[in-house]
Amino acid sequence: MTKNFYAVVLFLTASVSALAQLKSPSEFIPNYGKQISYYHQVEDYFKYLTENSALIKKQQYGLTNEQRDLNLYFISDAENLKNLEQIRLNNLASIGLSDSKSATAQDKIIVWLSFNVHGNEFAGTESAMTVAYELLNPTNEETKKWLKNTIVILDPCINPDGYSRYGNWLREISGKKNHPSLYDREHMEEWPGGRYNHYLFDLNRDWAWQTQAESQQRIKVYNQWMPQVHTDVHEMSYNSPYFFPPASRAFA
Ligand SMILES: [Zn+2]
Repeated sequence: MTKNFYAVVLFLTASVSALAQLKSPSEFIPNYGKQISYYHQVEDYFKYLTENSALIKKQQYGLTNEQRDLNLYFISDAENLKNLEQIRLNNLASIGLSDSKSATAQDKIIVWLSFNVHGNEFAGTESAMTVAYELLNPTNEETKKWLKNTIVILDPCINPDGYSRYGNWLREISGKKNHPSLYDREHMEEWPGGRYNHYLFDLNRDWAWQTQAESQQRIKVYNQWMPQVHTDVHEMSYNSPYFFPPASRAFA
């Protein structure tokens, strides 16, 4: 009897702690941080997160020209996720784009995180997984505070076709050793490279004109939300700094 009781207690403790833990990208994806992840591995990781956390919801918003899914993930407090539609309408009402203001859903901050518009700047999508993990990680109390009044809309990869073209090339020419020298083959990407989408358009030049399928489908959802903050995550050349407006004054 006593043995059974302890067995039940042990089982319950193990189940509760399994629920309270979430695998990080390095625990889920072999070679995370050492080699570029395949796009399907990125999608698998986000699927795992949506199945194991109440703080994340998926919305597929389109398809690329090569038929890869374009996905958004809404990350927030569980209560906020239940009221997403009213929070969205409240946000639109606050800028005069909707009349549907409700007192039941308080105003929240909408933060949209866009990663990897340039497919070969793959640190974007890789870091999107760690960002999502830290927002959801039950042991990270700081991010849980942020999520009480913030809706994070996370797009892990704006340009999956370019990201996959770059990843396939990089894996094909990589060996067992990394070669850090700038003149090694893995740093000399060949034309057309992974920066562009299927039709070799630079999607970061397509925000205004929206000639490409990825932009057209994305802007439709973006306009439904009108976030207060939008980040567009890039890699820069090894000797170029990040650009943050306002630009510095030109020297005379
Ligand atoms: Zn870029």
